[in-house]
Amino acid sequence: MNRIASATHVAPGEAPGLETLLVHGGTTRSGFGETSEALFLNSGFVYDSAEAAEARFKGEAGGFIYSRYANPTVDMFEKRMAMIEGAEAARGTASGMAAVTAALLCQLRAGDHVVASRALFGSCLYVIEDLLPRYGVPCTLVDGTDLAQWKAAVRPETKVFFLETPTNPTLEVLDLQAIADIAHDAGARLVVDNVFATPLGQRPMHHGADVVVYSATKHIDGQGRCLGGVILASEEFVATELKDFYRHTGPSLSPFNAWVMLKGLETLALRVERQCASAARIADFLSGQPGIVRVIYPGRDDHPQADVVRRQMAFGGPMIAFEVEGGKTGAFKVANALQIIKISNNLGDAKSLVTHPATTTHQRLTPEARAALGITDGMLRLSIGLEDPRDLERDLARGLASL
Ligand SMILES: *Cc1c(COP(=O)(O)O)cnc(C)c1O
Repeated sequence: MNRIASATHVAPGEAPGLETLLVHGGTTRSGFGETSEALFLNSGFVYDSAEAAEARFKGEAGGFIYSRYANPTVDMFEKRMAMIEGAEAARGTASGMAAVTAALLCQLRAGDHVVASRALFGSCLYVIEDLLPRYGVPCTLVDGTDLAQWKAAVRPETKVFFLETPTNPTLEVLDLQAIADIAHDAGARLVVDNVFATPLGQRPMHHGADVVVYSATKHIDGQGRCLGGVILASEEFVATELKDFYRHTGPSLSPFNAWVMLKGLETLALRVERQCASAARIADFLSGQPGIVRVIYPGRDDHPQADVVRRQMAFGGPMIAFEVEGGKTGAFKVANALQIIKISNNLGDAKSLVTHPATTTHQRLTPEARAALGITDGMLRLSIGLEDPRDLERDLARGLASL
């Protein structure tokens, strides 16, 4: 059985709904006609003849060559992700950071310049601020909500704008279309890390983004099992920038992890809708509690960028940030008193998780840098899971009662 016997059954033109794509998109069946996606746990492939191998290497014949380049299970995951994102092409990666690093490095050369929003996931900040300059690519960090700063940062050699929205951990929402317009006027591409919004909450490509990256480790797996990531872009971007970089530097996604991600995508809509509904309810609950200084939730009318949220997001998302009285001591008391919500720097899990950014994910920053980002010592970040929201509210009330 050395060839794929049947292909995707979601035909273009039928415009299937998102939930249908999440279950069926990109599925390819082997000759055995298996129901669930097959796990092709192999590194290499064999050829019927030396001529066939030559033709495949020359690109004259289709087919798989080596799992660092492509693998049937990874290919299904990539096709499904491209379909739900509305992108032409996708490449699976070993982690979210492999996706971010490959998406940037593949298109940058010494002498280029990057503009990025300052409020970034810690490892993304390392890549932008520490790693790229080592290879002759300086960057300018801006306050992402201030469009004038994006404009002012542009240089003739600016090639890439990079941002996350909502931001981590302060959940600021950046105006994708406005920033994409500034990037394109400057002849630069906009790369968006869309983890916090999830693929259901926001389609950056509909708002001008050229490249979208995910840590699939988060909501796409959604059950705390595997690392993975994905880069979504046009066929042209993959052909001219990403393809060779990806093949020869090896950030590839393992077939096993791709298979877990495929199964995760089947339930993504159910999980994320439930998480967002619970998050919206819990954000409202928290805002009325004693001991709370501030609640930041993109779905609330009091969010500083509520108008941008309405324009570009389908919902407020599964993440909440809140600040408690008493600074670090207060935040630690609350986190330590929680029984259902676990202390973890991860997010997007079925289990609700709480993080104290100032001492964990953003510990590396100076106090001044944290202050500039609005990360106070009393701030906690919540990733809402799939528990009964009433239990989560009781847990948070228990935490706040410890103050
Ligand atoms: C987790 C995360 C990443 C990195 O993903 P990994 O899978 O852990 O490598 C990048 N960006 C954001 C916004 C994240 O939350």
